[in-house]
Amino acid sequence: MKYIDNVVSLCFDESKCTGCGMCAEVCPHNVFKVDGVAEIINRNGCIECGACAKNCQFGAIKVCSGVGCAYAMIKSKVTGKECSCC
Ligand code: SF4
Ligand code: SF4
Repeated sequence: MKYIDNVVSLCFDESKCTGCGMCAEVCPHNVFKVDGVAEIINRNGCIECGACAKNCQFGAIKVCSGVGCAYAMIKSKVTGKECSCC
């Protein structure tokens, strides 16, 4: 599933990143790759679940969570397909 192109609120501050790898570990849509420091490799795949920001101990990630799940649930109702949010 992909979110709407170029509307994701995900913000990443590389200067705060220690390369711990938690964001890549918890992200359900492989938005981050960590090789030394994190890098956003699939921005439009972000569903704004907030897991990366919650698990980044260093405040390197900010995201307005909740909207992506709402979108997925509405889409599921409209299309009759299974919700792929969580
Ligand atoms: S969780 Fe935060 S500090 Fe760790 S790799 Fe990701 S952005 Fe960097
Ligand atoms: S908000 Fe969720 S989907 Fe988006 S990058 Fe973070 S963990 Fe991945």
